[in-house]
Amino acid sequence: MSNSFPVWINEGKAMSSPLVRSTNAFKRNSMRIAAALLIALASFVVGPNAALAAAAQHHDQAPGFYRMKVGDLEVTALFDGHGVFDPHWLNGTKATMDGVAEALHEDPHMLDVSDEGFLVNTGTQLVLVDAGAGTWWGGGALGRLVDSLRSAGYTPEEVDIVLLTHLHSDHVGGLTTQDGKRVFPNAEVYVAKAESSFWLSPEIAAKAPKEVQPFFRSAQAIAAPYIEAGKWHTFSGSEAIVDGMQVVPLPGHTPGHTGYEFSSKGQKVLFWGDVVHAQRVQLPHPEVTAVFDIDQTAAAATRNQLLAELAREDVLIAGPHMPFPALGRLRKEGSGYSWVPVIFNDRWDERAPSPQK
Ligand SMILES: [Zn+2]
Ligand SMILES: [Zn+2]
Repeated sequence: MSNSFPVWINEGKAMSSPLVRSTNAFKRNSMRIAAALLIALASFVVGPNAALAAAAQHHDQAPGFYRMKVGDLEVTALFDGHGVFDPHWLNGTKATMDGVAEALHEDPHMLDVSDEGFLVNTGTQLVLVDAGAGTWWGGGALGRLVDSLRSAGYTPEEVDIVLLTHLHSDHVGGLTTQDGKRVFPNAEVYVAKAESSFWLSPEIAAKAPKEVQPFFRSAQAIAAPYIEAGKWHTFSGSEAIVDGMQVVPLPGHTPGHTGYEFSSKGQKVLFWGDVVHAQRVQLPHPEVTAVFDIDQTAAAATRNQLLAELAREDVLIAGPHMPFPALGRLRKEGSGYSWVPVIFNDRWDERAPSPQK
């Protein structure tokens, strides 16, 4: 045993576990150990800066949630992950798209996007608007929504209602695990009838282009356990689902693409789904569409009309692909718009809901 003695001193681990493992050596060589400890302690006195320099870098970020007050509502943005929008997924005039390609050389982060869902605590119900991608989209870069929800102090079991803007997997993947389990076991899920009938139809799926097929497959697999449990509901008009919430049809991106507008005490927040994907292109150029827009003309028309209205009325917007916390407002700028983001604030200020006007 005595041979091991100089080894652990040389390794500089005098204060850690080898001391515990050396009980017998301790008894037999207590004087020598005491001397060695003195040497080890002396080295701490001589070199205190060495310990400071060794502090490890921490690469984890703050928990991905941000909440704000809208009237009596608590609205919490839930970060799901970060991604990059491919410029080939955008359709615009040649001049606009050449401009995008050129700008990307200077600024490779121009098409960075994030993915978010949002939680509304109405005081009586916990409502989730979109559920992030889970494991169904994003190649592992997305799927943090449930962690963000827990960090915000809630559990998936507490969610009463899920409102879906549409059935693309980056908005609904978080609902269901790959082995078909409901992530929100007590939630009633609502989606527009036109949306549900489109993506869940085997006939339409069979006729769809090959590259769109995966969206049909994922939508069907994600919906299945909720349908089986009787928790999948569709609406076709302005049925009252949640008090103070209005359904806002926003067709084009998908057949039943829907926004949800919550109002409380004269304040409003609109959850707008995929009205905008690449904000730094589509806000200055609202006519630019995305390849995921199933009806390109309708998507552009919806965006044109909605952006003008939102800028005019100064409505708070919750946009799943806008920069985190994905909450902000629009300003008219030239022939397009600019995004005025909600800025991180560590207070829960009941008196400062709408600083702009
Ligand atoms: Zn979409
Ligand atoms: Zn999306």
